[in-house]
Amino acid sequence: MSSHFVVRCIDCGHKTPFLPTNLACPKCGSTWREAEYDYAHLAHSLPLQLPGRPFDIWRYRELLPIRSPNPDLSLGEGGTPLIRATNLGMMLGNPNIYIKDERQGPTTSFKDRQAAVAIAALKEAGITEAVIASTGNVAIAYSAYAARAGIKLYAFLTSLVPASKMREVALYGTQVIKVTGSYDQAKMVAAEFAKQRGIYRDPGAMNVPTIEAMKTIGFEIAEQLTALLGPPTDPVTQRTTAPWRTPDWYIQSVSGGPGPYGVMRGFEELNLMGLINKYPKIGMLQAEGCAPMAHAWKQNKDVATPIQSPRTLIATLATGDPGRAYTFLYNRLKNTFGGTIDSVSDQEAFRAMHLIAKMEGISVEPATGVAFAGLIKMVRSGMIKPDEIVVVNCSGHTMPIERNILGERWARNVILPTQSMEETPEEGLLAALSKVAIDRFPRIAIVDDNADVRRLIRRILQSQGNYTIFEADNGRSGIDLIKKELPNLVILDLMMPELDGFGVMEELQSNPDTMDIPIIVVTAKELTNEEKKRLNGHIQSLMQKGDFLSDELLDEIRALL
Ligand SMILES: *Cc1c(COP(=O)(O)O)cnc(C)c1O
Ligand SMILES: [Zn+2]
Repeated sequence: MSSHFVVRCIDCGHKTPFLPTNLACPKCGSTWREAEYDYAHLAHSLPLQLPGRPFDIWRYRELLPIRSPNPDLSLGEGGTPLIRATNLGMMLGNPNIYIKDERQGPTTSFKDRQAAVAIAALKEAGITEAVIASTGNVAIAYSAYAARAGIKLYAFLTSLVPASKMREVALYGTQVIKVTGSYDQAKMVAAEFAKQRGIYRDPGAMNVPTIEAMKTIGFEIAEQLTALLGPPTDPVTQRTTAPWRTPDWYIQSVSGGPGPYGVMRGFEELNLMGLINKYPKIGMLQAEGCAPMAHAWKQNKDVATPIQSPRTLIATLATGDPGRAYTFLYNRLKNTFGGTIDSVSDQEAFRAMHLIAKMEGISVEPATGVAFAGLIKMVRSGMIKPDEIVVVNCSGHTMPIERNILGERWARNVILPTQSMEETPEEGLLAALSKVAIDRFPRIAIVDDNADVRRLIRRILQSQGNYTIFEADNGRSGIDLIKKELPNLVILDLMMPELDGFGVMEELQSNPDTMDIPIIVVTAKELTNEEKKRLNGHIQSLMQKGDFLSDELLDEIRALL
């Protein structure tokens, strides 16, 4: 049997051809194995082939453990966009935050890549029935691909998994088995069921096809960053130092960890082929109520203590026992990649989820809220530097969790009166709509010469829907605007042409009509003591550009109105 790859045992080094149903090394019994390809050959053949190929995971087919990819099984997996997070970047003071939008895969998570490769491998091996355990998204992705491949699937899900996700699994024709217990217990029940019935059980997380599929995220990021920013160059000679660019950070929320594990493997292979010359640091985030890896990392231990009963609402991340996967991740981070494993609370995740939706137009499930909350934490602590290039894995569209994050008053009711004889229907409608008329809302003037900053602040205000906003792009026109509109609040920049912010304040103070209007100064400038003195008594609040989040500005504004 000819093959373009072999499987090497990580424990004893023994190499065998790949058979999806042989889950362990025939020599030592280890289930920890890795695919190996002919990197010396691929180093020159692959870059020549790539330009003509579609942007999906099969463009890297020579680096996937499938003998002949079958287009009939494909749902267009991989090839997701890399989107610059402009507004979030401005708030955090980091212009190079990119979102790898895995929501745009066939079932909205990066598990699509895993399912596409794993199901293709099972199909090649002639498997017709399979058992899996899942925290939700693996079951959804496997079910979609199993449907195309004609494979009957049994999915063991913990009862924590939202009902809407369970129904989606069932919709694809998978037999859903709800297990009242933890994910780790669901895995044991699934294993027992498979053994008794003699059905193949897919080990999911650290299996060869899974890791091989996750690699493609790393390949795509490097290709996309190179297209956007060009190849890396030497700062002194300006010479290109490698064909492809890598980010400084790859950020992902983790449960069992196959995502970052596979992505690291991908970057290692790119390095083996001479396509990159630098590894990204890896930032892994867990939910505080189920963070065995983050705890062990903090204590500098290479073995994680399992969490028996996870305390988080975020079912996707509820792997209590990462097992040996943690030790592998720990070693790769310590020895090769660098980075960190940290945790955030469910509340922080919900807040971040709300922020990303409002500021970037991207609605994510709570598990990805964990990744964004972690990103914010890491930028603010200084672990991520302002000029570093960051890529966040963004998976999973919002599930019905909004109740937890929106609070009261998230919708306005328009109740139409029953029509009277004299009224036209339009009059009744207008009368009803006048109750939500905009001129009842507080009026805010934004005076800043930077159009991007005005757009960001406008967006922050609009995301609450309750303000009437005026804008001016220099100090002189700002004064005219404020005198004419008499807003309830002014948001003011200091460094502007014509008349700077200090001048605007002094002029407003000297006019009885405008002297009582509260002012928030938003500045990019480190202020001298002299300047701080000049501001004293004139302004109500001072915020540093690139260092405030939308909620913090809104809290200030609410306090002043
Ligand atoms: C699977 C999943 C994770 C966890 O990733 P792992 O690499 O499996 O630990 C995080 N977020 C979402 C949306 C997921 O589907
Ligand atoms: Zn072995």
